[in-house]
Amino acid sequence: MRHLTSDIAIIGTGPVGLITAITLAKETNFQINIFGPKPDEALLARDTRTTAFMAPSVKLLENCNIWADCKENASPLKHLRMIDDCGSLIRAPDCHFSCNELNMTAFAQNIPNSDLNKALISNIEKAPKINWIETKAVIKIENGADKVEITTSENDTYKAQLCVGADGKNSICRSVTQIKTTEWQYNQTAIACSFTHSTPHNATSTEIHRKTGPMTLIPLEENRSSLVWSLTPQDAKQIVSLNDEAFSSLLYENSHAILGTITSVEPRVAFPISGLKLEKFAENKIALVGEAAHVIPPIGAQGMNLGLRDAAHLAEILKEHTSLEAQINVIEEKYNHSRKSDISSRTFVIDILNKSLLINNISLKSMRSAGLTALRNFKSLRQLIMQQGLGDEQSLPKLMKADI
Ligand SMILES: Cc1cc2nc3c(=O)[nH]c(=O)nc-3n(C[C@H](O)[C@H](O)[C@H](O)COP(=O)(O)OP(=O)(O)OC[C@H]3O[C@@H](n4cnc5c(N)ncnc54)[C@H](O)[C@@H]3O)c2cc1C
Repeated sequence: MRHLTSDIAIIGTGPVGLITAITLAKETNFQINIFGPKPDEALLARDTRTTAFMAPSVKLLENCNIWADCKENASPLKHLRMIDDCGSLIRAPDCHFSCNELNMTAFAQNIPNSDLNKALISNIEKAPKINWIETKAVIKIENGADKVEITTSENDTYKAQLCVGADGKNSICRSVTQIKTTEWQYNQTAIACSFTHSTPHNATSTEIHRKTGPMTLIPLEENRSSLVWSLTPQDAKQIVSLNDEAFSSLLYENSHAILGTITSVEPRVAFPISGLKLEKFAENKIALVGEAAHVIPPIGAQGMNLGLRDAAHLAEILKEHTSLEAQINVIEEKYNHSRKSDISSRTFVIDILNKSLLINNISLKSMRSAGLTALRNFKSLRQLIMQQGLGDEQSLPKLMKADI
């Protein structure tokens, strides 16, 4: 049944939109309409990417009953290894991080996107407080005096007291707010695919730092791994269209054979890499989550994890309110405050880390090398960085740090 008016409207049915709907339904009594296309099995199968969910994000999936439906093909990441292959005069030392140093069983779980999305869709179909409004797209959002008005491409109109923009990089929700936005491009395109290899990965995620960006090899089940390989757009265009044999041999060579022979590769997809940051994340009854609120390069596997923290923080804030309309200004203020430091520090660090590979500047390379040497030598520094990579424990919402 279609509800023309709901308490909350979520625009966008990507992973962050779906997780936000589930999280808000779990933590609040508000009625939720979520707007976007519902992908069928064939479309889901076409997303061959995997996502590394850090331990706090896995806790959120557990607490929202999603984990049981997507854990079958999930693979733990117990070790992280960084190898400098930039070929510059100052070579940074290799760095190794182990989850044992934090007394954890794994830093993260690598989950195929198709499994995750299937689990999210089936969870939403069972949720009485969530209505999926299937539409090709939302084409207009207007900020009325007391409600937000949403028009779909089918020319249906809906109203909500709070609109959550989960509509990705080119967010229509963001464009309706007056929030100051800065966007930039990296001269990079990432090729993603999964592959099978002869040498076991030993639950180790390896980031090979090259002058066009990182090549990351992330463990999957048995002798399979997923690849995120950052290249110049020109090289990516040529490499993504190579046949399986030629691609495998190039991957073998460029990964220095650390996973042995490449025995098979799955279809490759290319993603241009860009960045986006905002001055704030909520305004005019619209709160932004996921890539509508921040875009960062895939180095360090942080983007989706940030999006899950957006969802969990928003849920924690809304849980304290019974009326959205009367308290919308306070809600926006709390959301802006809770997301500012996490998103801006993460965007800054990932940008610098990515640029330190791309820019051939001797001071930047020396700084990077000194930083990695310190990390290699000091356990307490390694523990601090590992903890930061997982998400600042102190400020994590309850849903991400305790069984609920
Ligand atoms: C190669 C690669 C590897 C990555 N690996 C990791 C990783 O290991 N760990 C990690 O944390 N992050 C990773 N990321 C980042 C992660 O993939 C993104 O942060 C995440 O997909 C963002 O999800 P989202 O739902 O915000 O956006 P999207 O996935 O872009 O979803 C937005 C949705 O909104 C819909 N939409 C857009 N406009 C409208 C409209 N007008 N009306 C209705 N719907 C609309 C779209 O159809 C889409 O379904 C990786 C990224 C890349 C490119």
